[in-house]
Parts: sequence; C-alpha cells; structure tokens
Amino acid sequence: MKQSTLEAKPKVITLPSDQEASGRTLGEEEIALVADAIRSGTLTSTKGKYVKKLEDEFAALYGVKHCHAAASGSAALHCAIAAINPEPGDEIITTSITDMGALTPMVYQGAIPVFADVDPKTYNVTAETIAERISDRTKAIMVTHLFGNPCDMDPIMDLARKHGIKVIEDCAQAFLTEYKGRKVGAIGDIGCFSMQQGKHITTGEGGLVISNDDELARHVYLFVNKAWGYGDPKPDHYFAALNYRLTELQGAVAVAQLAKLEGVVDSRSTRAEELTRQLIGLPGIETPEILPGCTHTYWKYCVNVDPSVIEGGTVALGAFIRERGIACAPRYIQKPAYCCQVFSEQVTFGDSRWPFTLARPEAVDYSDENFQGTLQALAHVLVLPWNEKYESHHVDFIAEAIRDGVEQLAK
Ligand SMILES: *Cc1c(COP(=O)(O)O)cnc(C)c1O
Repeated sequence: MKQSTLEAKPKVITLPSDQEASGRTLGEEEIALVADAIRSGTLTSTKGKYVKKLEDEFAALYGVKHCHAAASGSAALHCAIAAINPEPGDEIITTSITDMGALTPMVYQGAIPVFADVDPKTYNVTAETIAERISDRTKAIMVTHLFGNPCDMDPIMDLARKHGIKVIEDCAQAFLTEYKGRKVGAIGDIGCFSMQQGKHITTGEGGLVISNDDELARHVYLFVNKAWGYGDPKPDHYFAALNYRLTELQGAVAVAQLAKLEGVVDSRSTRAEELTRQLIGLPGIETPEILPGCTHTYWKYCVNVDPSVIEGGTVALGAFIRERGIACAPRYIQKPAYCCQVFSEQVTFGDSRWPFTLARPEAVDYSDENFQGTLQALAHVLVLPWNEKYESHHVDFIAEAIRDGVEQLAK
C-alpha cells in the first residue's frame, strides 16, 4: 500500500440524485401538462389524449409502426412475453445479470427462464453464450442492454432467425442507445422500456412496448387492456390478461419527459466521456467497453476493477469512494439472478413449483461452471451512479475519488 500524497482532506460535494429533484428533469412542462390532464377530467388512457400522444411520439422517435404504454417496465416485458405466447414449459433464454422485473413475467406466462452467461467485459449476453442454451423448447430470447451499453445484436438476430425464435429487447436502461446506426429496441421483434423513478425519463412507474409486427403489437395492446377488443364488431375478453394501463396523469408527465430525452442522453454521454478520459491508464481500472459503431447511453457508469492490482478489488474501492459521498454499488445486484429464491427454490404458485415442474433439468442447472463470465463480472464491477444533471466539476470529483482510492489500494 502506498501513502496518500494528499495533505488536505478532499472536499466532499453532494451529487445530483435520480431519487429527487436534484437529479431529475421534472419541471414546469410536466406540471402544465398534468394540470391540463386534471382539468380535462379524463384520467383513463382509454378516453384521454396524453397516453395516445406518448405512444405516437415514441413510435415516431423509434421509427416503428406500434407503441403501447404499460404500467411499468415489468408490465411492458410481461406484455412482450404474453405476445410471444409460450406454451407452458417453453423456454426463454435471458441474462443472468438483469432486473427481476424482466424475469418473473416469464414465470407468470408459464415459461422457463433459461439463463445465459455474460461477457465479463461488457456484462451482456452474446450470440455464443445464448447458443449454448438453445434447445428444442426455446421460444424466445430476451436480451438486456445492460447499463445502456448495447448487446452485439447482428449475431444474436442471425442466431434467432436461424432457429425461428423471437427476440425481445429489454431497453429499460438503454433509451436511445444505438447499435450500428439503429436504435436498440427496434432491432428485435419487440422492445421494452421503463419509466421508473431512476431511469433516463420517468413517470414514477411506467413502461413502453414497441414493435413493427402487427400481430405481436395487437397482442400487447390486448394484454394491457384485459384482452378486451375495443372497437371490434363483437368485442369479448379474448384471453387471460390484466389491466396494465398507464394513467393520463403519467401520460402527461411522459409527454413532457420525452421532449427532454435527447438532452438527457447527450448530457449523460458527454459527462461519461469526460470521466473515461480521466480514468484511462489508471492501474487495475477498466473503463466501459463499447462495440465499434455503437453508443452507450450511460444509465450507470461502470468500472471494472482488477483485484490482482487493487487490494480488496471493487468492494474496497467502492467503500473508499462511498466515504467521499459517492453512493456506488460494488458487485451491482450482488448475486446472479438465478440465485434469487424464486428460482433457486422455485417459489411460484402455492406449493406447486409450476412451471418449473415442466423444466428440462439442464434448463435449470445453475452450476458455477455454466456462469464463469457472470461470476467474474459481478466480482469486478463497480457501478457508479450517473445523472444528466452532472456537470464537469461533479465528474472531476468522482474521478479524484477513484484516483485517490486506486493510489491507496494499488498493490
Ligand atoms: C428497471 C428495469 C426493469 C423493470 O422496470 P420497472 O419499471 O422497474 O418495472 C426491467 N429490466 C431492467 C433491465 C431494468 O433496469
């Protein structure tokens, strides 16, 4: 361990936070539209104008035929899985590092989540890791563009097309992320987004589903609306579905937020590039790895910490910068998704364990040797909070804390 060269105590500043006004773009525009929604007296999206406007504008932004809003990112993903319409016991290949909101909807639709390993450098699934898990029961692939960094979609789409399976993109962390000139979410068959408090834009809770496929989009629409065929000559409740509608209050906020999205992404990316420039070359630290021709939209900024260089690795460096007031997350979700009780003990409906009773043993084999990339990724990742309200002096503050931590902890 080296001695710190700092004489004075470093000054601590408070970073903008996405949990309150300091780190959100909510303002007079949202207030004006919410007030208008309230004055209209129509708060349901079945009759109001704001959710419709949101859906039209989001579809236009993504250049897709259809967009349907839903009550949360988890609801959006549930709609996507319902639209794929798996038979009980069908498998959906997904990632071992993601939000639970992407996974439990599979169980509700009777499908088996089959976890693929990730690339330890990008934290994303790849065509290679997905290919290892394909079986004759595979119905779909759900990729997560983790932290706003795109998966390598061309080989994934080739693999899916070769096997005749659908691709759902979880873009909850990846608004406006681009893969070789195309926006993620519009590359696979269905794209899903979240407007939860901590995402790029927010309505507190909320979600969006996009697709170019008329049939899938129709199924999504019905799944949001208790499968009631509004406007049909002989409407009925066609199948089992929930009420997953967004309210007009949220729709009004979302319309105002959407107008700010590009600015949010620009600001996050500009500041992230500043941090990268300051961290490059630090021993034991790797900055985000982005595929050529792609953009990262930085829901979070992750550094990869090499424990053979940094004493105590990500946990020690995380503790050091947290002392300086930077609320970081060493190891991100702490354990792979398949280690959560819902999967490890198959806790579902009553004591039935359904649908896992239908699973092939290999589909639910969570042995460490299948997940070397995942275990390495979680052991090394340090997730930094990131925000559109950061200014250069915030970035300098974070960079200084990391530099000082590395200096203290480098072996
Ligand atoms: C936030 C998130 C979700 C779930 O979205 P909610 O709006 O919280 O339900 C799903 N997947 C990923 C990758 C997320 O980050």
